Amino acid sequence: MTYFELLKAASLRIRRADAIELLSFVTELSAAELVRDYGEVCADSAATALEPLIIRAEHDEPAAYITGKREFRGLTFQVTPDVLIPRSDSEPLVDAAVRSAQTRGGGEITILDLCCGSGCLGLAAIAKLPGASLIAIDISDKALAVTRRNAETLGLAERLTLIQADALSVWENTDFEADILISNPPYVTASEMSALDRSVRDYEPHLALFGGTDGLDFYRALAENIPRLLAPDGVLILECGSTQKSAVEAITAGISNCVIIPAGTQL
Ligand code: GLN
Repeated sequence: MTYFELLKAASLRIRRADAIELLSFVTELSAAELVRDYGEVCADSAATALEPLIIRAEHDEPAAYITGKREFRGLTFQVTPDVLIPRSDSEPLVDAAVRSAQTRGGGEITILDLCCGSGCLGLAAIAKLPGASLIAIDISDKALAVTRRNAETLGLAERLTLIQADALSVWENTDFEADILISNPPYVTASEMSALDRSVRDYEPHLALFGGTDGLDFYRALAENIPRLLAPDGVLILECGSTQKSAVEAITAGISNCVIIPAGTQL
């Protein structure tokens, strides 16, 4: 069977993008190489290895959890079911952080990634900013372990500090004075939780998704903690749900430099 025939058959069962990601994983060929080799015969061993992965994807398991990795802002991040899968929706936050660091002259700035999960936001930002260091905070020690592994693989571990803390609590004795605070906090509302796609609802960590009844609990806690997290002239860069921008603007109204990027924004 050729790669083309194998992908065609797989695409009748699962999303084509997932079929390509899984075939790329078992063959260790990039998607571009697969396209180049479409007409080549695929080794039987690859077809055999692909089948159980297709079955998992047929049960809505996300391809990123099956392969254990996902591309984000040109970097490969390891993911486990303990962390949200990096989404292209969040890439504009990285660009905003990099732009803002560059306008501040680059240099030795500190970025704080609150609710860091895989670490994709903060690590992708400091990967582009040689002088920057990252403080990555999450409530989940399993998520922090994923952030650490990603930092090691990407050669960024020396610029990383990990802290386990609950973003919903009040941080009395803290003073990070970060130059940039970047965050994709949980923001899914109670009613949206039950309506989520099965691949998200049944596989991704609810801890990283559920933002309280109206989805805004983390933004309220953040606004309260901000003087202890961000330097007075620091920049706050937040993702929110596609319909939450004005609500988050109202919550963060007292913060002077604030960039709010709703999911689905193309910049
Ligand atoms: N964008 C994610 C989703 O809709 C939610 C991410 C989050 O809550 N921060 O599945």
